[in-house]
Amino acid sequence: MEEDQNPEIADKSEITCKNCAAKLEFKPGTTSLVCQYCGTVNEIKIDKEKIREALREIDYFKFISDSSNVEAPKEENKYVKCQACGAETSVDAKMISAECPFCGTPLIMEKSQIKSLITPSAVAPFKIEKKKAIESFHIWMKKLWWLPSKTKEYAKPDKMQGLYVPYWTYDSRTVTSYNGQRGDNYQVTETYTDSSGQTQTRSVTKTRWTNVSGTVYVNFDDILVVGSKSLPEKHVYALEPWHLNELIPYDKKFLSGFKSESYEVDVKNGFETAKSIMDKQIVTAIHRDIGGDQQRITFKNTSHNNVTFKHVLLPLWLSSYRFKEKVYRFVVNGQTGKVKGERPVSVIKIILAILLVAAIITAIVLLTQ
Ligand SMILES: [Zn+2]
Ligand SMILES: [Zn+2]
Repeated sequence: MEEDQNPEIADKSEITCKNCAAKLEFKPGTTSLVCQYCGTVNEIKIDKEKIREALREIDYFKFISDSSNVEAPKEENKYVKCQACGAETSVDAKMISAECPFCGTPLIMEKSQIKSLITPSAVAPFKIEKKKAIESFHIWMKKLWWLPSKTKEYAKPDKMQGLYVPYWTYDSRTVTSYNGQRGDNYQVTETYTDSSGQTQTRSVTKTRWTNVSGTVYVNFDDILVVGSKSLPEKHVYALEPWHLNELIPYDKKFLSGFKSESYEVDVKNGFETAKSIMDKQIVTAIHRDIGGDQQRITFKNTSHNNVTFKHVLLPLWLSSYRFKEKVYRFVVNGQTGKVKGERPVSVIKIILAILLVAAIITAIVLLTQ
């Protein structure tokens, strides 16, 4: 297979077929762009040597003290903000109309703006095709209980859009000093008088508390923080795990035919979220360090050292549907096919189920009497 090495073509914002110049779209699960018109396979050249470069971490404290930092280059792209939900997604130059992938509202193309944002260093290309994502959605929906019967008519998985979602990943070497208490349980035998006036004994658990202090060291690698505010956080985090070993150097060709979202959470705010994720693991480490049967932390102070970050794009299939004036969204992990979503609940079905259960219990009671 011949590789596309024509720099003129590679530099165009629109990626075209080397044979017929038609617009190309990235084919999930491959490393190529297959022409819909002439079938020519346009292989995307992945520079193996660049992989290490792409996964290189950027010094966080250096970056925030000087954001003109050359280590985190910026890229200009055209984005349009949805008037209904505020999500900002990329549009390509020739796009005439599009719908917001988050809420299905038509986007007003005239309102698009050029934004300069940190260039992602790596991207995890789509592995799951739209067809497969739709299948995953149908399987997920079939398993749902209390779904109003009409939901299936309204859900429009065929309108699913492929979206690259911005993420930050953080590394940190943490040192935490703490003060607290260690609780060791022990048993004592107590005597008491029961209701009939008899003296009885019973075993009671008591805790002996001792003051403790110490230091724990926890290293974190690639803590993922989503840079989007358009998706409910619980859904986004429920889509994990991501296969970060499949990250490859960022190349716009992998984005061809897909949308990407601009990040709304910046590097600094992303680090605050990362710190709270890390904190949970630090608390676990302190509890382990204290030992005993119970632990109390009265004070802790964490210092973050060697903090680095990188900006990556992860693939999501996204669709929404309106049911009784409410928007329901569902997302499919573009790497694994895992589905998460919002769903309506049929109150009538639940009431009927409760009535049915009540009827069965009444019947059993009547029969046994
Ligand atoms: Zn072609
Ligand atoms: Zn929207």
